[in-house]
Amino acid sequence: MTDPLLPGATVGVFGSGQLGRMLALAARRMGYRIHVYSPEADTPTGQVADRETVAPYNDLEAVRAFARAVDVITFEFENVPSAAVDAAAELVPVRPRSTVLYTTQNRLREKIWLDQHAFPVARSVPVRSPENLLGGLRRLGYPAVLKTAGYGYDGKGQSLITRPEDVDGALAALGGQDAILEAYVAFKREVSVVAARGVDGSFVHYGVVENEHRAHILDVTTAPAAVSPEIARRAEAIAREVLEALDVVGVLCIEMFLTGDGKLVVNELAPRPHNSGHYTVDACVTSQFEQQLRAVCGLPLGSTEQLRPAAMANLLGDLWQRGEPDWAAACAFPNVKLHLYGKREARPGRKMGHLTALAAAPAEAAEQARAARAALTLAHANSTTSAGSGEPRDRR
Ligand code: AMP
Repeated sequence: MTDPLLPGATVGVFGSGQLGRMLALAARRMGYRIHVYSPEADTPTGQVADRETVAPYNDLEAVRAFARAVDVITFEFENVPSAAVDAAAELVPVRPRSTVLYTTQNRLREKIWLDQHAFPVARSVPVRSPENLLGGLRRLGYPAVLKTAGYGYDGKGQSLITRPEDVDGALAALGGQDAILEAYVAFKREVSVVAARGVDGSFVHYGVVENEHRAHILDVTTAPAAVSPEIARRAEAIAREVLEALDVVGVLCIEMFLTGDGKLVVNELAPRPHNSGHYTVDACVTSQFEQQLRAVCGLPLGSTEQLRPAAMANLLGDLWQRGEPDWAAACAFPNVKLHLYGKREARPGRKMGHLTALAAAPAEAAEQARAARAALTLAHANSTTSAGSGEPRDRR
């Protein structure tokens, strides 16, 4: 096995959003340097990184210069083109390796891989033409979910088809892109497992958490999830098998549906830290970001022990609709931690930050996180002459 990269080494990151920011914060605390690569400037990651390269992913010369300047590369955004990752991998280790990215960045490829490895998934058919879609609906029935194969996250590129009249709209939304039609899973709950695997094949997981979505976007995560030990054991076993079969070095999240009869159905893989693991920053011995750093640097993995029940509530741009949220009101909850990502523009649906609440029990933590989030805009709701109403304001 190769020697670990020790503090002082430079970790390169493809992608510059909040996941890279929290990785960078963990890395800098441990004395590593962070160099971020993305097409944007003044980014959530760039603001806290040592170096920021601003160049398109298809500028392979810039990618090679970046690769030469770092000791290892990881990513926080899985839609980095394979050509960029492959060019970088000729010069420096990329972890997880490019095949992990290749498989998981496209829903069709991911679903085929999961199916071939006998993981439980929703029935699905590939859709490359209107005829495929109609044939797929005959096979799967209604309702069904049509998803673009590439660039899908947070419900983007997704349409629910409940009756034949929905077909035209769903096709129009696709705009000719390859897609996958999935049978609708009437789930009871959504859960996920964040797990990590080291260079030496060591494996750790953070247990099962419960995720509530609003408009297809994660809203609240409660950790741990209130599931039976048997379901937790099965979900954790799926996580281990996925990381081993994909030969992941790094962090990967498996999102699953839990049906009323106790079946787990894998919905999606994310080969990086995940929004449903943000609570680990405040609630666990080792956060998912420190774990990613340890894994990609070849260090021993840290304990995933959760010190207190926790819940995370996302802060979307919608909260800025009537002006700057009242941060002091959330900070008045002494067991709630505020995380903001440094994004300038608060667009509806955009993840701007999150709150983590710690409490004696998971349900109580979820209640606290929600209450603290509601307090952010209480003053706006109560005032009829809010000075900040109208256009969303820049946060800084
Ligand atoms: P995704 O972008 O695939 O993660 O989907 C976002 C959300 O849409 C999921 O978290 C579910 O709430 C919902 N969803 C996606 N696929 C299905 C499905 N096959 N059946 C039911 N709900 C789904």
